[in-house]
Amino acid sequence: MSKKGIAILGSTGSIGVQALEVIEQYPDKFELVVLTAHKNADLLIEQSIKHKPNTVVIVDESLYQKVNDALFEHDIKVYAGEQALAEVTEMKEVKTVLTALVGYSGLIPTIKAIEAGKDIALANKETLVVAGELITKLAQEKGVNIYPVDSEHSAIFQSWVGDFNNKIEKIYLTASGGPFRGKSIDELKQVTVKEALNHPNWEMGAKITIDSASLMNKGLEVIEAKWLFGLKPEQIEVIVHPQSIIHSAIQFEDGSIKAQMGLPDMKIPIQYALTYPSRYKSNFKRFSFMDYPSLTFEKPDPKTFKNLQLAFDALDKGGSMACILNAANEITNQAFLDGKISFLDIANINEEVMNKATFIESPKLDDYINSNDEARQIAQDIVMSKLN
Ligand code: NDP
Ligand code: MG
Repeated sequence: MSKKGIAILGSTGSIGVQALEVIEQYPDKFELVVLTAHKNADLLIEQSIKHKPNTVVIVDESLYQKVNDALFEHDIKVYAGEQALAEVTEMKEVKTVLTALVGYSGLIPTIKAIEAGKDIALANKETLVVAGELITKLAQEKGVNIYPVDSEHSAIFQSWVGDFNNKIEKIYLTASGGPFRGKSIDELKQVTVKEALNHPNWEMGAKITIDSASLMNKGLEVIEAKWLFGLKPEQIEVIVHPQSIIHSAIQFEDGSIKAQMGLPDMKIPIQYALTYPSRYKSNFKRFSFMDYPSLTFEKPDPKTFKNLQLAFDALDKGGSMACILNAANEITNQAFLDGKISFLDIANINEEVMNKATFIESPKLDDYINSNDEARQIAQDIVMSKLN
């Protein structure tokens, strides 16, 4: 059997690094074709010398010379820039593109990969939030599969396998609740960046960690689930489950529920997205029921954690609204990380941008691009006005 060619977009991030750990376990099954990074040239060089991809892309063009000088003698092709990032997905050796980029930057490369008929292992949820309708339609037209990497969506997918002909009545999307679970608005006024970065169960990149604290991540995941599984908003229920052991569940029309569970370890969903329908024997740490004598469940609090409500509002509105919310959130998330706004400002500004940005009912690709630009600008202006 020939090896499966993999391109990892965003190999230097949290998901990218774990994907490399998965892939190196199975040298007979996978061939690493492409690695990419934005600015972390040192890690990209180190990964490339170790894993020997055919081609790498460093998105920041000012770092091209450095990466090329280091990899020239290793016979690895080096490209730079956003266009190269999108174009490498088309290489004939690539079978599956793992989109482990963060934020809106994943949109165009994902579209290019689908147009080239590549399967997608999708970690970059923002792409489905921005343009879920366009992406899922395109994937259907091209006969391309989108395999979820996000642990909740992987859990739903894994629970659905064997039941594809049966309708989903609803899904339960589990949420850890993040570091601020149970806090009141008053308590949230004072929380710091350091506290927000301290996630109880998962170690992830900075953006998704802040999104988890603000429940924006769960909101983005609600939208991601709608597009991946073709659901209506009322079929998606968010349940807070602080232990992060049940990764999500499907309820079928006979009332039966199938869930997928295990320790919180992203390597499992990453691996399944690359190996479906097979399961390869792994050396990941095993779960023990005795370590978790009680699994608990709570209702989320969308009044306090308004971002979750905003995501449902964006779904109800449809059109470009989720794109607007995502763009606003990319700015406010970063502004909070940079110490420019408070934690509660994140959702407040996101809401303000949703009210101010131009809404487009039936967006095309150009409209998404313009909506993203406009919403970012509005968010940026509000952030600046808070600084003055
Ligand atoms: P990280 O911030 O750790 O990594 C992001 C990766 O994307 C890095 O390789 C980074 O390069 C690259 N990158 C960043 N900005 C750009 C850009 N503008 N253009 C091109 N490349 C860029 O993120 P995570 O790995 O945590 O998350 C990746 C995606 O996976 C996100 O969409 C997230 O929501 C999703 N996800 C992550 C989970 C996790 O456990 N981490 C769990 C579920 C989903 P460089 O290092 O050079 O900056
Ligand atoms: Mg998740």
